[in-house]
Amino acid sequence: MVGQQAGQLAGQPILILREGSQRTRGREAQSMNIMAAKAVAEAVRTTLGPKGMDKMLVDSMGDVVITNDGATILKEMDIEHPAAKMMVEVAKTQDDEVGDGTTTAVVLAGELLKKAEALLDQDIHPTVIASGYRHASTKAREILSEMVGNVAPEDEELLKKMAMTAMIGKGAEAVGDKLAELSVKAVKAVVQEDGSVDVDDIKVEKKVGGNIGDSELIEGMIIDKERVRSDMPKKVENAKITLIDSALEIEKTEVDAKIEITSPEQMQAFLAEEERMLKSMVDAIKGSGANVVFCQKGIDDLAQHYLAKAGIFAARRVKESDMKKLAKATGAKIVSNVQEIGKDDMGHAGLVEERTIGDDEMTFVEKCKNPKAVSIILRGGTEHVVDEVERAMHDALCVVGVAVEDGTFVVGGGAAEMELASKLRKYAATVGGREQLAIEAFTDALEVISRTLAESAGLDQIDTLVELRAEHEKGNKYAGLNVHTGKVADMQKIGVIEPARIKTQAIGSAAEAAIMILRIDDVIAGGKLKEGMGAGGPPGGMPGGMGY
Ligand code: ADP
Ligand code: MG
Repeated sequence: MVGQQAGQLAGQPILILREGSQRTRGREAQSMNIMAAKAVAEAVRTTLGPKGMDKMLVDSMGDVVITNDGATILKEMDIEHPAAKMMVEVAKTQDDEVGDGTTTAVVLAGELLKKAEALLDQDIHPTVIASGYRHASTKAREILSEMVGNVAPEDEELLKKMAMTAMIGKGAEAVGDKLAELSVKAVKAVVQEDGSVDVDDIKVEKKVGGNIGDSELIEGMIIDKERVRSDMPKKVENAKITLIDSALEIEKTEVDAKIEITSPEQMQAFLAEEERMLKSMVDAIKGSGANVVFCQKGIDDLAQHYLAKAGIFAARRVKESDMKKLAKATGAKIVSNVQEIGKDDMGHAGLVEERTIGDDEMTFVEKCKNPKAVSIILRGGTEHVVDEVERAMHDALCVVGVAVEDGTFVVGGGAAEMELASKLRKYAATVGGREQLAIEAFTDALEVISRTLAESAGLDQIDTLVELRAEHEKGNKYAGLNVHTGKVADMQKIGVIEPARIKTQAIGSAAEAAIMILRIDDVIAGGKLKEGMGAGGPPGGMPGGMGY
């Protein structure tokens, strides 16, 4: 299979590829790509659903991550095969667009390819399959859009259920209710006027210690910084907040200038001038009426002293992203020149206070009026626990955000997929020809979600599938698998619901990836430039090539 591309001209072979290039073509290339892509899907498949298993990932540094979050697993895996990378792309897109449903999307893409393989074996041309899949994907999303339920931002119960569905199985069950409520409150606080939600406006701060139930929502910001001096007030009520993104220090000259000091008087004058400049900075801050300063850069010792004397709370080296969120939470404008601080640059908070959380000092900026950025502080017994709770919270926030933005939901537990499949199968029958086979394959692939959920719950996949199909035939469109009881149940009733966008996006990107992979019939891999080749052979420790 290692092929030097050779044409023939008057018996003379013409080499058009550099030596060391590899080329695989036709059915073989397809098989290789499909195999690699399926392997990725297989790697995350068992984590699907609340009863999904966890993966322990150990990186080259020996750091351990335990998770059942598809996006995280694929991020941590060092994937090299180009077709496998396309599957990772599917997960990434899903994560960016929705923030949940990554495993679903990847598993679906894997199943689409598996079904396509069976069609290829029946000598159906890949372009026919590709166009059938494209057709099916468009139709599926159309059908789905008619299946959705509506949810209003005021409908906190429904939103909470979606948050719970997203979090369950991610180590947050016991206190899922509390976390779900936090996520709904947080999202509702940051909804913008046009109805859009940017979950980046919600800062999630994690602290090891305490337990998950101690997690809380702060109507404002938590900054992982303490005040610069202990003789500053620890607590400021009715805070007037100034945000400064330049240093409260004397700027060092850019050029390497030498100042020659020849007498003690000169030295005195020099220091006095520095002191005067720092004092004038602090005076400007004081004059503006501020009693809290967050500085993105450093604060000179002397300036700290003056600030403390003026009774001002100050924190330094605050992260830029936190400065932006502070601005949103308190209504402050970030200023660069302290001499120009005006009244309307000032932000407000009912309370700024330094508190000890776990072993660390943190600054709480709370009781902001109508904050457009809020924080959630997550607690948990160990680092692994807080990390996993953080991922669960991320999913919950994204899901609630998407639901508030779109206002639509579908049922989970494989129910939406089963209903969709049953409708799509009927549609396929009207299409006819070879394309029908592809649409039917697509339909069967949708059922992989139910099958996988059944498997993870320790049930027989086929029995469950047959039962579910029968229920949907009977018109029970919310029939899905309750993995906790192992029984088929009405998902709407038991509150397993998800934003519709999870499904539309997953189907769309899974189909796209499958189509892209199917359409490839020629893989040309340039010879790799490897160091140490001259010394003979590839260097040790290189992963095993690209599998061609
Ligand atoms: P993903 O990365 O795709 O979000 P998850 O591991 O979060 O993967 O699993 C999501 C799947 O689990 C969805 O199909 C969802 O409907 C299903 N699910 C969630 N809660 C339940 C439940 N209680 N019973 C059955 N299925 C559930
Ligand atoms: Mg999920």
